[in-house]
Amino acid sequence: MNKLFAGIEAGGTKFVCAIGDSSGTILNREVIPTTVPDETMPLVIKYLQDNYAKTPFSAIGVASFGPVDPDPNSPTFGYITTTPKPGWTMFNLLGALKKHFQLPMGFDTDVNGAALGEYRWGAGQGLDSLIYYTIGTGIGAGGMLSGKMMHGMMHPEAGHMFIPHDKVADAFAGVCPFHGDCLEGLASGPSIMKRWQVKSALDLPPDHEAWDLEAKYLAYAMANTVMVLSPQKIILGGGVMKQQQLFPKIRQKTVEFLAGYIKHKNIIENIDDYIVPQGLPGDSGICGAIALAENAFNNL
Ligand code: ADP
Ligand code: ZN
Repeated sequence: MNKLFAGIEAGGTKFVCAIGDSSGTILNREVIPTTVPDETMPLVIKYLQDNYAKTPFSAIGVASFGPVDPDPNSPTFGYITTTPKPGWTMFNLLGALKKHFQLPMGFDTDVNGAALGEYRWGAGQGLDSLIYYTIGTGIGAGGMLSGKMMHGMMHPEAGHMFIPHDKVADAFAGVCPFHGDCLEGLASGPSIMKRWQVKSALDLPPDHEAWDLEAKYLAYAMANTVMVLSPQKIILGGGVMKQQQLFPKIRQKTVEFLAGYIKHKNIIENIDDYIVPQGLPGDSGICGAIALAENAFNNL
């Protein structure tokens, strides 16, 4: 029988819990609000226990908001670390699950999880170097390089890269509490709402100048990503990327910013297949959590 895996996509507003299998099929899921650990975690554990009693799963994967400690050799492996989110600072997320389940467990950032989900069942299949960006409440990037999930000292925080900010063209100071006008400060969903004084980015029509500016900032990030990491594909997800008109603008400006320097055919000829939407719309993260469980089970 097909092995089952449990996945938890731990987000800042909601925890998505699901049971899935090695074909990427999600058999059932439940969404639990992220309040404080004492409220959220018992509901997560109950979901897992109820499902385990009915259809035992072989491993658990967690893809979490961060910063997290993804280093298995560290004493704080599996913790959410320096988040300002009340109650979650230095929270031992994996430890809370280990109290109830003696199963292989995988743990990584939400964006590494989403990248892994896309690699396993989505737009990144068959590649060994890909980067996944989420452009939502925050901006984050994860991915795989030469077949390994991107870690390092802890994990990249590409959402906070600095990009050119022409303050004459765009006087907005940015919303990042740490850096002001880093990428997240200039191009996250909240920055769009604040700059243009709208309650929702959806209030801006598709031909609004906001999207040209958004595409410019994201294209700087794409060009930087191409030059620093040289991935085989870049996948863009998150709420803001539901604005499909952004894709052609981002692609065109990325090519423009690279200025003929990167002569690979992926950039020169196939940019439409190089910067792409999610292959698993809305599900990259939870599928990634299930893939983390599968990897843990297979000792990858
Ligand atoms: P989160 O980042 O909180 O996990 P999302 O990826 O859905 O969740 O991102 C939420 C952000 O995306 C909000 O700032 C919201 O304004 C923006 N957003 C959501 N849907 C759209 C849309 N269709 N068009 C533009 N922006 C959107
Ligand atoms: Zn920042």
